[in-house]
Amino acid sequence: MSSAPGNDDDTIDIRPANAGGVRRRRLLRLALAGGGAVSLGAAGLGADRLLRKDQGPAIGSATESAIDLEEPCGTHLSRLAPDADVVVIDFPSLLTQGLTLDRLAAFVEKANVPHDRLLNDASLAAAIKASGDTEASYYYGHDYQAADIARFFRLADSEGIALNPHELWLRRLMRQLGWMAQGATGAIITLTAAGGPVTMEMRTVILRHEISHGAFYTVPAYRRYTEDFWASLTDADRAAFTGFLGRQGYDTSLTELMLNESQAYLIFTRDPRFFNAAAIGKSEEEVAQLRQGFIDNMPEFWLRALATEPRPPASHTMPGCPVQSAMLTDGRRTCLCYRPV
Ligand SMILES: [Zn+2]
Repeated sequence: MSSAPGNDDDTIDIRPANAGGVRRRRLLRLALAGGGAVSLGAAGLGADRLLRKDQGPAIGSATESAIDLEEPCGTHLSRLAPDADVVVIDFPSLLTQGLTLDRLAAFVEKANVPHDRLLNDASLAAAIKASGDTEASYYYGHDYQAADIARFFRLADSEGIALNPHELWLRRLMRQLGWMAQGATGAIITLTAAGGPVTMEMRTVILRHEISHGAFYTVPAYRRYTEDFWASLTDADRAAFTGFLGRQGYDTSLTELMLNESQAYLIFTRDPRFFNAAAIGKSEEEVAQLRQGFIDNMPEFWLRALATEPRPPASHTMPGCPVQSAMLTDGRRTCLCYRPV
């Protein structure tokens, strides 16, 4: 999901403990936020949700509203409750997300970069700078299907591209999910903890947008429906969406990307900061008509309800990390999470 104004600050918004004063009895986990490698065992996670090397992935499922309420201090993994083929990665910061996924974003869908080879670090940094973004702000949320991620890592091997520790973590995850295999069905969707330009409420907008991409990748009937919808639009309407997406940094030559993003913005991004009628040069009435036409004919499956349901409330407390404090150690920010007993 394309970003609003950029931010390259890796600081997580740390809030004081609840007014009631939760006692810090049990230290759950120490996670490094920022500088170090991505922490798999996110602070505040139950053991069943950790990625265990010897047993493969054991990732618990979570509903949209449960994820909205997370305030990850480390990297959280969960399978989306209505569709286990969609794995949600909730990063502790925009920077950690960017370090993990920016090279993949360029490869799969960014404008003005090649899609048949990978960028090395210097080329990636130049591409991000040329787009007017930073490592942190290249996207606010990401989404990729298993086949594209597998192709990315195969090319990294064959081209000898040096991947960073965050990308190597993602490759381990893909292997353990079995998604490096030909024909694997699956998708990752991502968002970040609130901090910098990302508010708790904005997390709910980003997640709803990304969930629709997850469905697009894993539910063939929905992908076909979206393709048919795109084909049914007038040339002028397709040009309007394409123009908007081009201004967001997407490669407009990729038709599948255009129609996938169009469904996500038009139907599942009900926040004028990210999408509005004027962005595609239409009136509110015209956009409402387009939406209604799409929703009326959607296939009957779990995503359909989310086309009209209000988003779940944003977190005002921090149930994913009930008590946390931060300190600086050797110039690195260390995040501590506690669970009240
Ligand atoms: Zn999107």
